[in-house]
Amino acid sequence: MNLASILVDSAARDPRRPALRLGDRTVSYAELDDASARCAGYLRAQGVVPGDRVALMLPNVPEFAVGYYGILRAGAVVVPMNPLLKPREVDYYLEDSGARGILAWHTTEQAGVDRADGVSTIVTPDGLAALLAGYEPAAGLVERAGDDTAVILYTSGTTGQPKGAELTHENLRRNVEVTGATLLGLDADDVMFGALPLFHSFGQTVALNCAVAVGACLALLPRFDAAQALEVLVRDRASVFAGVPTMYAALLAAAGDGEPDLSALRTCVSGGAAMPVELLRRFEEKFGCVILEGYGLSETSPVASFNHPDRPRKPGTIGTPIDGVEMDVRTADGTPAATGEIGEIVIRGHNVMKGYWQRPEATAEAIVDGWFRTGDLGTRDADGYYRIVDRTKDLVIRGGFNVYPREVEEVLYEHPAVAEAAVLGTPHPTLGEEVVAVVALRPGASATPEELREYVRGQLAAYKYPRQVWVVPALPKGPTGKILKRSITVPPPAAG
Ligand code: AMP
Repeated sequence: MNLASILVDSAARDPRRPALRLGDRTVSYAELDDASARCAGYLRAQGVVPGDRVALMLPNVPEFAVGYYGILRAGAVVVPMNPLLKPREVDYYLEDSGARGILAWHTTEQAGVDRADGVSTIVTPDGLAALLAGYEPAAGLVERAGDDTAVILYTSGTTGQPKGAELTHENLRRNVEVTGATLLGLDADDVMFGALPLFHSFGQTVALNCAVAVGACLALLPRFDAAQALEVLVRDRASVFAGVPTMYAALLAAAGDGEPDLSALRTCVSGGAAMPVELLRRFEEKFGCVILEGYGLSETSPVASFNHPDRPRKPGTIGTPIDGVEMDVRTADGTPAATGEIGEIVIRGHNVMKGYWQRPEATAEAIVDGWFRTGDLGTRDADGYYRIVDRTKDLVIRGGFNVYPREVEEVLYEHPAVAEAAVLGTPHPTLGEEVVAVVALRPGASATPEELREYVRGQLAAYKYPRQVWVVPALPKGPTGKILKRSITVPPPAAG
């Protein structure tokens, strides 16, 4: 067992098929297979042995896949890192993971990667090809056990410093199998558009590994830009797109009144954050495709639940657990919640990580009796569909009443002028917290803060509507495009 066998098998089935496309550059399965085998040969020649951690700090370029499968073929553990990290962050990840080496992009040369111990390789596209040409392809794959770690994904989890979620070969292989072939119905004729960063779990499993496992083509874009993304969707005739909700909003805005030809696009996957129902409707209407929302975390490989294509779809829900995975809702004292009752979502199954790398205490807190505690609040309805109410830490408690920001955001998204919305709590002297909203408008649209506030006020209980609304040009986003609520600062509200 080795996750890299998904590449070896696809290359053996049809070596000439395109595996990766970036602009006018295409890499076939045979080429990707050969380059990653050489990469494994190179790593072994540098003394990398099975179980060693090797960091991979590359944007969405074909070299990411070469390094990823190269490290796995050598039996080593991939530690993906955001190429935009600054030196002190790079040091943290390298030290924490005990990385034996790093494959990094040339633009990160200043980022301190040259301080990594052991193998430290700065690559450029030409540089990597030239480097690897000097090494013999490693024969075969290093055999790994199913519960050997394949990838360590750094995530903040619900609290504290980034921790490395250890995902095994079995975790990832099963998640890829269920998600790719069964849920997305992928086959070798599909073109998957992977605008998500490949160093993050969503892009890595759903875009890269799912595409490679069936021998499909993965179209890449180094950094998400809505206008460029539309071009790729049209030019490469993408049939499947996976993205976070802000990407869907940006694509809609970029298309404007135009009619880009997305006739090849059949299925879109949304995950990583709640998909506002109104945005889903607008996107589907404009582009004539279906958006299936799923849910998961880095710690769950990531897919845990999905709006299955063969079951009735319920927009606004994260669907039902995927095959082989169980979910439950637990109240504050750990007992199962009743239908419709809000509690913490817990997950058990083949997708749950082995643990946090070298953090037994954090692991013991996160995985209790085999159930992984997600830190997300949700409900289950009578049909077994789950709904994310919010993250535990985003809950706003105003004067003793719980306000779930997502509910307020959904209403804001229904306003025709709103492109992006974030609702949060700010400290309040008497109420504890006050509800405020930060909103970015659609291009060319106008709405005053008062108008938006009154709009929500008309539709929700009095304690929920935002007393203040701030209109800003754009909301801060993380590397995957998720809105970063914790980076938004608003002035404290006036008392009263
Ligand atoms: P990450 O580990 O970076 O993939 O982030 C996982 C978190 O993203 C989860 O704990 C949720 O809070 C959030 N998330 C993922 N998918 C969804 C979804 N469909 N709806 C709401 N939140 C989601």
